[in-house]
Amino acid sequence: MSSPSPAALKHTVELIRRRSVTPDDGGCQDYIDSVLSPLGFTRIRVDTGGITNSIYIRPGEKPGTLAFAGHTDVVPTGPEARWPHPPFAAVAEGGVLHGRGAQDMKGGIACWLAALEYCCTQNIPMPGLQLLITSDEEGDSVDGTIRLVEYLQSHDLLPDAAVVGEPSSSSQVGDTIRRGRRGVVHVYVSVEGKQGHSAYPQDADNAIHHAIEALHAILHIDWGKPAADFPPTSCQFTNVKGGEGASNVIPGRATAFADIRYNPGLDFEAIRQRIETACSVSAATRLDIRHEAAAFYTPDCALLDLVENSIRQVNGVQTLRDTGGGTSDGRFLATAGIPVVELGLTNDTIHQIGERVAISELDELTRIYAEIITHF
Ligand SMILES: [Zn+2]
Repeated sequence: MSSPSPAALKHTVELIRRRSVTPDDGGCQDYIDSVLSPLGFTRIRVDTGGITNSIYIRPGEKPGTLAFAGHTDVVPTGPEARWPHPPFAAVAEGGVLHGRGAQDMKGGIACWLAALEYCCTQNIPMPGLQLLITSDEEGDSVDGTIRLVEYLQSHDLLPDAAVVGEPSSSSQVGDTIRRGRRGVVHVYVSVEGKQGHSAYPQDADNAIHHAIEALHAILHIDWGKPAADFPPTSCQFTNVKGGEGASNVIPGRATAFADIRYNPGLDFEAIRQRIETACSVSAATRLDIRHEAAAFYTPDCALLDLVENSIRQVNGVQTLRDTGGGTSDGRFLATAGIPVVELGLTNDTIHQIGERVAISELDELTRIYAEIITHF
C-alpha cells in the first residue's frame, strides 16, 4: 500500500479544528460529506432532538454491506491553559498530533476516510458501505446511534457487519479489539424515616440506618456464575447522602445510588428481582431500578477473523478479543443482530488534558482498515 498517512493526518487535523464539544457536531459531518461525496457516497441526515446524525451510503461492487460507526462529538477540554497546545489547534510536533478527539475518535474516523480514498483510487472492488456518524456519543446517547439504527431498520438497510472506530487498543494499534461490553443498571435507593432528636430515638425513625441495611443487602447479592470472556458483575455505590449536618438530629431521609456493570450471564429482569428480594425487609426503602445499557457479545465469526488477520497482515500484532471497559454505541448495532467489533487507535490519553496521537498510528490504522474493506 502506498503511503496513506498524509490523508489520515489531514482529515484528523480538519476534524480536530472543528470544535465539536458534545453534543455539537461543529461542522465535522459536513467535512466528512465533502470527503465522501466524490467517492460516490450519498448522505442521509437523521438529525433528531437537535443532534446531528448522518448515514453515508455507497452501493458495492461486491455483495455484502459493511458499516463503520463513530462519533464526531468530543468531551470538554478542561482548563485550556493547561494544554501543551490549544486543544482545537491540531498542532503536530515530534511525530505526535495534539488535540481533543485525536484518539477519541476523530483520528479513527479520519483513518476510515483515508482507507476509503485509498481503496477508491486503487479501484479495489468494495462491498456496500455505510458510515454511521453521530454527535451524541459522549453525552446522553439518547438521540445518536440508536436513531441511526432505527432508520436502517425501518428502511431495510441494516448492514451485515459493523466496525466501531472507538480507540480499543492498549499500547499498540490492534493489540486489543472489543467483541462485547457489559451492560449497565442504575439503582436509586431512597429511604423515608422520621426526623427527631438523637437523645429521643423512640420518637424518630433513622433513615440512615434503613439505608445501611439496604446497601449492605445489595452489596452482598450473589450475582451467580458469570458468562465466559467477560469481567464479573460489579456493583459500586457512587453516591450516599443523609443527615442534616447537626450532630444531634436523627435524619428523616437518606438516598444512595449504585452503578452496576453486569455480566451477560444475567439480564436486567434477573438483576431487578435479586435487588428487590434483597431489599424487601424494609418498607421504608424505595427502589428505582433502571436499565441504562444492554450487554452485548459477538461470538466467533468471519468478521472477528477478518479483523484479526488484517491487523496481523499490517503490523504483525497478536490481538486480544476483549470485553472490558465501559459501555459503547456498539450495543445499539448488536441489539439489532449485527456482528460488531470495535477497533481503533490506542486509548492512553482519551478524555485527558493533552489528548494526542502518534502520527505513525494513524498510518497503521488506515492500512488495517483498508485491509478490512478490501477483504470483507
Ligand atoms: Zn469515543
